[in-house]
Amino acid sequence: DQTIVIANDAFCRAQGVSRHDVIGQNAGLLIRGEPAGNVREIEESLLESGLCDSSEQFHLAPDGSQRIVSVNRSLFSDQSTGERYIVATSRDITEDKSREKQLQLLASVFQCASEGAAILNDLGQIVEVNPAFAEMTRESDPRVLVGKSLDQAFQSRIEGLADLIADVRDGNPWSGKIAIPDPQGSMRSYWMSLSPSVDVHGEFIQIVALISDITELENSQMELRRRALYDVLTDLPNRAYFREHLKEHIRQQSGCTVCFLDLDNFKHVNDSSGHLAGDELLRMVGERISTEFEGDVFVARFGGDEFALIIEDSQIPPDQVPRALDGLLAAFRDPFQLGETEALVGLSIGVARFPDHARGVDALMQVADIAMYAAKMGGKNQIRTFTEEMQETVNLRNLVQTRLRDALNGGEISLHYQPQIDSQTGELLGCESLVRWCNSEGVFVPPNEFIPIAEQTGLIGPLGDIVFRKAAEQACQWRDRGLPHQIAINISPHQIRHPRFVSMMRETLGETGARAEWFELEITEHAMMADVNRSIEIIDQLAELGFRIAIDDFGTGYSSLSYLKSFRIHTLKIDMSFIREITVDSQAEAIVRSIVSLGTGLNLNVVAEGVETSEQAALLSEIGCDILQGYHIARPLPADKFVEWQATRD
Ligand code: C2E
Ligand code: CA
Ligand code: CA
Repeated sequence: DQTIVIANDAFCRAQGVSRHDVIGQNAGLLIRGEPAGNVREIEESLLESGLCDSSEQFHLAPDGSQRIVSVNRSLFSDQSTGERYIVATSRDITEDKSREKQLQLLASVFQCASEGAAILNDLGQIVEVNPAFAEMTRESDPRVLVGKSLDQAFQSRIEGLADLIADVRDGNPWSGKIAIPDPQGSMRSYWMSLSPSVDVHGEFIQIVALISDITELENSQMELRRRALYDVLTDLPNRAYFREHLKEHIRQQSGCTVCFLDLDNFKHVNDSSGHLAGDELLRMVGERISTEFEGDVFVARFGGDEFALIIEDSQIPPDQVPRALDGLLAAFRDPFQLGETEALVGLSIGVARFPDHARGVDALMQVADIAMYAAKMGGKNQIRTFTEEMQETVNLRNLVQTRLRDALNGGEISLHYQPQIDSQTGELLGCESLVRWCNSEGVFVPPNEFIPIAEQTGLIGPLGDIVFRKAAEQACQWRDRGLPHQIAINISPHQIRHPRFVSMMRETLGETGARAEWFELEITEHAMMADVNRSIEIIDQLAELGFRIAIDDFGTGYSSLSYLKSFRIHTLKIDMSFIREITVDSQAEAIVRSIVSLGTGLNLNVVAEGVETSEQAALLSEIGCDILQGYHIARPLPADKFVEWQATRD
C-alpha cells in the first residue's frame, strides 16, 4: 500500500526530510517528480509478476532542480509473516545522462563533418576514420582503412610522415599542406593537422588527424590573385603588379630602367573605329611590345593606352637601352591590321633610371611619367629621359596651377587695355584687352607664363570666361559714358576647341547686355591652322553672332594663303617681329608691304602691333597699314588709366 517501512539516510537527504518524517508516510505522496500513476503501474505489475524492474524516472529535488534517477525495484516477502515488501533503490544519473548526450553529439560531428578525421594509434596506424576521410581516400568502406598508415590510406607517399608521427606522439602538434594526386592524376591540396590527444593525467592516448581538401580554395585564391595582378584585356601585369615588381628591385638595390609608354593617336582609333577595335589594338600593342623584347623585359599595362616597362640592367645593360627602345619605336612603324583597316600608332616613351633619378616606387613612377609627358609635348613618337629641368617645369606648373585656381576664384585677375589708333588720322578706334594676374603677394605674373599652363591644365576655359565677361562689362560701361568701346579679345586655341565655347560667348553677351559687334576676337594663325575645318566652322558661328575675327601674329603660322578666303575674318594683325625690324631690315619691310596689300586685296583691316617708335609709325602709315598699336602710342593700361589717357589726347 506504498507505506514507507524503512528508508536510508541517502533517501531522506534526496527528499529533504528527516527519517522521523518518512516512516509511515505514503511513498506516492512523498516522492515528487514522476507522475504517481506511472509509479503505481510499475509497482502493481511487479507485485503481479514478481520480476525485478529497473526504470528511469524524473525526480524533483528539494532545491527544485529536475534530476533523472535510475530506480531498481524488487520484491521481498517475509517468510514468517508472508507479508510482501517492495525494495526500491535509486541512483541519481543526471550527470551520466548529460555526458552521454555530449558523446553522442561529438560522434555525430565526427560522422557528419566535411573535414576528414582519423584517429591514429601511437604507430600512426588508423584506428577509426569518419566518412569524409574515407571519401578523400576514395574508399567506400571505412573499415578497410583500419590498421593502415596515412600514406597507405592515400596510396601516395607523404614526405617525412614517420618523423611527423613520432614528433606528434612526443606532444608537438603539427599542421601543414600536403599534395596528393587524385585518381585522374591531377594534384589536389590538403591541409592536415595532427594533434596528440592525452588523458587527464597527460598520458598519450592517440593522435587525431584532421584533413581538409583546399584545392578549390587555392584555385579561387589563385584566380583572385591573377585578377588582382593582371590586366584582363592584354593579360599583361597591371599597375599593382608593376609596383610590386619595382619595389622588389628597389629592395634588392638592383639597377633598372623604368619606361612609361603612351600611345599617340589611340584616342583617334577608338573614336573612329569603335571600342572593340580599340581593345583589339591594345591587345596587339601589348603583344608587339612583348615580342620586341622576347621576354627580357617586364611589360605591364596600366589601363587606357598606357604601358610600362622595367628593364633590368642584368638583362639589357643601361648603355644598350636606348638602342632597344629605338628598336621598339621602329617596330611601331608597321601599321596594325584591324579587320579591314590599318591603324598606325606611335609611342611616346619616358625613361627614368633607378637609382639615378629616384629611389622610391612612387618617385620613380612619377619621374618616368614626367619624362613621358615631355616626350608627348616634344612632338610625340619619341623617347625622353628624365632630367632635372623637367622636374622644375613640373614644379612651376603645379605651383602656378594651384595659385591660378585660387586667382580665378578671388579677384586677382584683371584686364589692361592697349589703344589701337587709325594710322592716318590718329583717331582712337578701340583697344586690345590683355589679361593681368597680380597674385596675392602683389607680384605680377606675365601672361606668357601662366597662359600656357592654364591651357595645359584646362584652366583656360574658366579664365577665358572671366576675361570675356570683364571685357563685356567694361564695354557696356564705356558705351554708357559715350566712350569708344571696341575691344579686341585674345582667344586661346583650347577655348575654340571647347564644344560649348560659342554658346558660352552668347550667354555672356545675354547676361551683360553687351553686343557681339563691339568685339574683335583674336585667334592666332597657329591656332587656326591646327584644325582648319573646325576653325572654319567655329569662326562661321562666331561671325554669325556678329563678332569680328582677327588673325593674330599673322606671318608666323606659314598658312597657305588660299585658306584666307575660306575664313570669315575681318582683320590681319601683323606679327610684332616684323614691325620691330621694319625700319632696319628691308626684307621685314617687304613682308609687311605684301601683308598690307594682301589685306587690302581681300578687303581686310590690317593692324600693326608692337609699334615702338615714331619712325615705325610713319613708315607703317606710308605703307597703308590701317591701324597701329604699341608702346609708341600707349602701353597696356588699367581701365581708369586708359580713360585718363584718352582725355589727355583730346
Ligand atoms: P599678344 O596677343 O601678341 O599681345 C601683345 C603683347 O605685346 C602683349 O603682351 C602686349 O603688352 C605686348 N606689347 C604691346 N605693345 C608692345 C610694344 O610696343 N612692344 C613690345 N615689345 N611689346 C608690346 P602681354 O600682355 O604680355 O601678352 C602676351 C601674350 O599673352 C599675348 O600676346 C597673348 O598671346 C596672351 N594673352 C594676353 N591676354 C590674353 C587673354 O586674355 N587671353 C588669352 N588667351 N591670351 C592672352
Ligand atoms: Ca593679341
Ligand atoms: Ca600678337
